[in-house]
Amino acid sequence: MMKIQNKIQSLLNITAIIDNAKCFQWVRELRWPDGVHCPHCSSDMIVKNGRDVTQSERQQYYCKKCSRYFDDLTGTIFEGHHRPLQIWILCLYFMGLNLSNQQIAQELDVHVDDVHRMARQFRDGVITLKPEVGLKGNVECDEVYVVAGHKGHPDAVKKKGRKGRRNRLKGAHGRGTLAKEKPPIFGMIQRGGEVVIQMLENVKQQTIFPLIQATIAPGTMVYTDEYDIYNRLQEWGYEHKTVCHSKGEYARDEDGDGFHEVHVNTMEGFWSLLRSWLRPHRGISQEALPAYLGFFEFVHNAKKRGKRLLESLLRLFLTDQSGIH
Ligand SMILES: [Zn+2]
Repeated sequence: MMKIQNKIQSLLNITAIIDNAKCFQWVRELRWPDGVHCPHCSSDMIVKNGRDVTQSERQQYYCKKCSRYFDDLTGTIFEGHHRPLQIWILCLYFMGLNLSNQQIAQELDVHVDDVHRMARQFRDGVITLKPEVGLKGNVECDEVYVVAGHKGHPDAVKKKGRKGRRNRLKGAHGRGTLAKEKPPIFGMIQRGGEVVIQMLENVKQQTIFPLIQATIAPGTMVYTDEYDIYNRLQEWGYEHKTVCHSKGEYARDEDGDGFHEVHVNTMEGFWSLLRSWLRPHRGISQEALPAYLGFFEFVHNAKKRGKRLLESLLRLFLTDQSGIH
């Protein structure tokens, strides 16, 4: 009986059906679409130099220009780990499908602490490598508060409710700050385009100004609610229209053409996607939250799912910028 169970378990090992050699081949194709280049000096005067002793699928190279050695993974996030490449790639694939660390550990037959470390490295990597996003056209700005303590359980993104908003407008202090374990997340989204989100220390004009300036092109039409942190947008060089939630107004047809363009519904829609995305991950701390946000920002902007998203993520980790220069 025991023997049969063991056999079933080994058959169900997902890594056994993924070919490690194919993983390396895929890495080479994504990393060097125009042929192998030296990660140290960019030269293409490369000769093959045998295989790695522990992973035979891993090709080693010698650069004739700078006389240095490297291999398929040198200078990438996949370098220097004892686990096979296929485990890392599957971990990233499952992260793209938004499995929790616990679920990934079960799928890969790997200890959850190891998954934590791998996932952390990938999330931090995405934060470092993701391209800077610039927004223009019609952009909406808004904020939400996430319950995230230092050991807390951010079960849900808490959108400021009617009551909360009224309190805040009366000038309730200390609401939605890091100290309160409800850090604010500031979001900017281009209608029909990309999004930028960031956890903030607090919600003040001087905190959001540099973010807005670095992200939104001057002269852009920016839609917000009537919260006073947005009062100086015109002074900062933007067109600005506000929707007045406290009057029960969610979209206004300002120029009478039948389009209700004064709204922040795109941002609201994004918050609900973020809320769903964070749900499987219990107990994200404030320290870890920015990395989760950065990862989801990338996923959202990639506009891809499943294996196509995996390819975008791998491309991010394998492009030149991740190499040693
Ligand atoms: Zn070289």
